[in-house]
Amino acid sequence: MIHMNNAKRYTVTAALPYANGPLHIGHLAGAYLPADIFVRFLRLKGKDVVFICGSDEHGAPITIRAKQEGVSPQEIVDRYHEQMKRSFSKLHISFDIFHRTSAELHHEMAQDFFRDLYEKGVFEEKKTEQYYDEEYQQFLADRYIKGECPHCHNADAYGDQCEKCGNTLNALDLIKPKSVLSGKAPVKKETVHWYLPLNKDEEWLKLWIQQGEYKGKHHHDPKTWKKNVMGQVGSWLSDGLQARAITRDLEWGVDVPAEIPGSANKKLYVWLDAPIGYISATKQLALDGKIDSWEKYWQDEDAHLIHFIGKDNIVFHTIIFPSILNAKGNYNLPVNVPGNEFMNLEGDKISTSKNWAIWAHEIAEAYPDKIDEFRYVLCANIPETKDSEFTWSDFQTRVNSELVAAFGNFVNRIMVLNKKYFDGKVSSCKAYPAIEADALSVVAEAKEQMTKCIEQYKFREALDVLMTVARDGNKFLTNYEPWKRIKTDEEEAQTVLFYCTQIVANLGILTQPFMPQAAEKIFSMLNCKDLKWDDVGRLDLVQSGKELGETKLLFEKIDDDFVSAQLAKLEESKKNTSKSINYKPVKDEIQFEDFSKIDIRIGTITAAEKVEKADRLLALTVDLGFEVRTIVSGIAEHFSPEEVVGKQVQVLVNLAPRKMRGIESQGMILFAEDLEGKLHFVSPPAGMDNGSEVA
Ligand SMILES: [Zn+2]
Repeated sequence: MIHMNNAKRYTVTAALPYANGPLHIGHLAGAYLPADIFVRFLRLKGKDVVFICGSDEHGAPITIRAKQEGVSPQEIVDRYHEQMKRSFSKLHISFDIFHRTSAELHHEMAQDFFRDLYEKGVFEEKKTEQYYDEEYQQFLADRYIKGECPHCHNADAYGDQCEKCGNTLNALDLIKPKSVLSGKAPVKKETVHWYLPLNKDEEWLKLWIQQGEYKGKHHHDPKTWKKNVMGQVGSWLSDGLQARAITRDLEWGVDVPAEIPGSANKKLYVWLDAPIGYISATKQLALDGKIDSWEKYWQDEDAHLIHFIGKDNIVFHTIIFPSILNAKGNYNLPVNVPGNEFMNLEGDKISTSKNWAIWAHEIAEAYPDKIDEFRYVLCANIPETKDSEFTWSDFQTRVNSELVAAFGNFVNRIMVLNKKYFDGKVSSCKAYPAIEADALSVVAEAKEQMTKCIEQYKFREALDVLMTVARDGNKFLTNYEPWKRIKTDEEEAQTVLFYCTQIVANLGILTQPFMPQAAEKIFSMLNCKDLKWDDVGRLDLVQSGKELGETKLLFEKIDDDFVSAQLAKLEESKKNTSKSINYKPVKDEIQFEDFSKIDIRIGTITAAEKVEKADRLLALTVDLGFEVRTIVSGIAEHFSPEEVVGKQVQVLVNLAPRKMRGIESQGMILFAEDLEGKLHFVSPPAGMDNGSEVA
């Protein structure tokens, strides 16, 4: 395998989290934790690596949320950028930089990419019909449209992607499309955009991904790519790729460079600009003086680029971004894209909108002493080959029986025995070949086995190797019983404990990528530092006679109360799911004079009948005091004619008349629509005179 060892340096990225809401454990287990384990492993091996991430701060959902909350998009992204940055740091996800795509440096770089590709004639310009919301008078970007997925019939698919089946979509293919803004069916209208003709990239993409060949050279071993990733990519490639629009009619995002004709009001597609964020973040790292050049991590042939992502991002990292890098030229393509499946929670899909999640920031803030425990259990459940599940009872079992009873207990016993019998110093070691051989067998294979697992992105298996070392260490200890032996042969007992101490040091190194706090505690207890990955397997890591540090508990038991409190909290949060997610966004600001043009009066419905051949319409006769009018209203699915006669209502009386099914409607009756979409009368207090003004 030419894969890992010949790289001079590594550029490891973790999916840019979207700055539109908090992160949950599914995100951590899917992308950030595996990436962090991988990077810590490379660093322990002494490799030159940059670990790049940042928040993705463009795209429609951010503007939708800003509208819902009545704040600016910048306020939304500032809030979540800061929150995510803080959480990652507290969870010991060791990015070299956590940048952001709203940074000017990023806008410039994304525009440079666009400009360069435009000048090279890579894009196709196309006039197409796109969905437009008449009520809000704007084109609807992908995320502004929801509807039924034509592939799996998930009713909640977005205009660009179905999150259920992972297919990328064209908004026009959605069944029963609906505008997220008005909730109404959009209309089609013409607009011009630039397209990336992915169909022209098919051939080299196949060769690159499936054969591991790029520009006539060996690039990577396709067998090292995960099956789930290869499967998804393979099916897109065999279905055939289509040109993809890479600009949008949006108000928030990276501007299409102003000098390009037709660029007014056009923004770069968020999936064009976001991955370029990896590069601009690396450039920022160089500007900060942390690395001497960003180019060598992206353009030097000996640099290996690896993208850690969740399955919903596979297409962007295997097809779209590589196509852009290829068109730009002189950039490395990823040697691997380890994409994971999804994590479920207590039997259900994790859902932000249903508030069914364990939030990263809550773990980070509430349990700073249990971060390693979370990292451990999440790693044990990384959805590497299929969806996985987190449950609080599994959390408790793993922490108590694996971390506390096996791992923590072993380390603690060695410390206590050294303190008790040898005055807090590392015991001495004499020649006992059988004991040495037994001790060696505990750690001898670990480095190679774990290296192999991590290099193949099998982090769960790597964690098993770690636990096996801890368990075998325990067995070694119980087997030789130094607390008994000390009464008969002190030198032998010393030697056993000496080897146990070496096993603990080995465990410290092996633990570092997974549970950095526990590793640090081990090293401080052993009073040693700067151990490297290549030291694993050695039995001379801590010298005899060395003063040991203060004994610390590595892990704490999780009691039943903790678990039931967590379960209760989860149930409670589901009940309290904020209804704000169903609120329609507030419409654009108007001036007082706009409002003052509106004339609303009280009236009474005196007669009502169904409109022929129109299921939704009722023709109403309304007495406004000063005159009687006919108003056609789309309420027939909500009320029968009998139900409405006699009701006093509020009427918009100066709306221009319009013909509906041949009947002229002379105004509009106001209704309140509840969050389930049901209509209710907005009746004035009893005894109001018809014709009274509402203002
Ligand atoms: Zn679908």
